[in-house]
Amino acid sequence: MTQAKFLTNPAEMPKTADVIIIGGGPTGTAAAWAIERAAPGTRIVLLEQKSQLAAGASLASLENFRTCWAAPCLHKMMLRSIDVFHHAEDYFGEGVNLGIKQQGYLFIGFTPKQAAVLKSDVEHLHRCGLNHMEYVEADEIKNRYPWLGDRVIAAKHDSMAGWLDSNALVYAFARATQSTTFILESKDARIRVEGNQIKGVSTAQGDIDAPNVVIAAGAGARALGRTAGIELPIVVRPRQSFTTGWRHEAFPEESPCIISASPHPHVRPEAQTGAIFGWEYTINSKKINPEQDGHDDSLINPIQPVDSLKDPRFPSMTLSLLARQFGHKPGEGFGDTRYLRGIFHRIGYYVYRDNAYITRPDGTRESYASQRAIIDKWPGIDGLFLTIAHVGHGIMSAPAAGEILASRVLGRDLPDPAFSAFGLDVPWVEHDSGGLSDG
Ligand SMILES: Cc1cc2nc3c(=O)[nH]c(=O)nc-3n(C[C@H](O)[C@H](O)[C@H](O)COP(=O)(O)OP(=O)(O)OC[C@H]3O[C@@H](n4cnc5c(N)ncnc54)[C@H](O)[C@@H]3O)c2cc1C
Repeated sequence: MTQAKFLTNPAEMPKTADVIIIGGGPTGTAAAWAIERAAPGTRIVLLEQKSQLAAGASLASLENFRTCWAAPCLHKMMLRSIDVFHHAEDYFGEGVNLGIKQQGYLFIGFTPKQAAVLKSDVEHLHRCGLNHMEYVEADEIKNRYPWLGDRVIAAKHDSMAGWLDSNALVYAFARATQSTTFILESKDARIRVEGNQIKGVSTAQGDIDAPNVVIAAGAGARALGRTAGIELPIVVRPRQSFTTGWRHEAFPEESPCIISASPHPHVRPEAQTGAIFGWEYTINSKKINPEQDGHDDSLINPIQPVDSLKDPRFPSMTLSLLARQFGHKPGEGFGDTRYLRGIFHRIGYYVYRDNAYITRPDGTRESYASQRAIIDKWPGIDGLFLTIAHVGHGIMSAPAAGEILASRVLGRDLPDPAFSAFGLDVPWVEHDSGGLSDG
């Protein structure tokens, strides 16, 4: 039996392949895994520019997963993926451990208006068949989560949510393959097209001929598309997170991930004593892009290294926001300065499709920040495929995204008709929301 190979030596690089995948993050590795499962023996070459896989946005991620997405295409994608996570040994091999903690997600409300929104969200999700979703009233919150304090009056609970080890997931996808060759430190990939047909990829280490190429390069996707003479309809937005080695005593290790009210700072326990925080904070928008208005930090061309965009105030701002929302005084709870010792602050890009719009009754178009990835073939170039724009959920959705991509590459039916919503030219689907900045 052949096995996944990891190479850096150009002399050993295959000269031909059936499929070349560019990008070794969650979506590229998931694509290799899913194509092989659907068509064993497919000769795949995956090109990763760094010396290890999972070297993009997943490095900054909170590694969370949840089912509560309002659009059917999104919650079906997460349900399928979570099923794969829970059967990791069946899908990836004996002994594979993804470090899953299924401790739930708790979206909380402090005002009657926020409570009403949470309640109507849960009603909608029940109508979609997500019957595990629960609206939790104030008394029950005090009973289950007394440490949240008196200000919290309502919550939406997703008991199927949790978090995992995203690096373990990416390497599980990779190691489960048998006919995929992973080329690390692959530099200067350029897609070769003749007429309207993919011919392969040229790299600084040599050329590989193949009839199919998949762009799975996260924030690097648009630049790669240009090597094939196309402009991909995506924008990127910098997003930050940080981990602390300490958390306040009342915040228990078994807590769900807490998603606070708008602007939705979120936090979950990390390891035995720490916590991990995130927030879709619109950073330095004037600084990074003087053309934009103050609230739009989207970029056509990502600024690299993305670390240069870190806002050093982000950890203290997030903690003060949480302390204010929960009513913690300085020195108490999230207001305790011990949180600020030994912080590991990270940043990466969310990648969004930039071609989603609603058509108003008068026929004019209003664009919106879609949560839908693009998983499709590119029209006009035979053999070019995309798995891009995975926004803030490319880890939790990776297995299903891989399967959708595999069906596109192999010319088979989609695993679920709802997944046609990930088509390149689908401008709108109902309830296409659920990013945490919506509030
Ligand atoms: C702060 C933050 C928090 C997040 N939290 C979560 C979360 O809790 N749950 C969740 O599911 N998702 C989360 N995400 C989103 C998630 O990280 C992304 O959706 C996911 O990583 C996208 O996967 P990807 O494979 O498309 O891209 P990436 O993870 O960016 O991987 C792309 C890979 O392609 C490589 N590459 C790029 N260009 C080239 C090239 N030209 N040649 C060769 N290789 C190339 C890169 O080096 C990288 O390894 C978060 C993201 C951020 C920034």
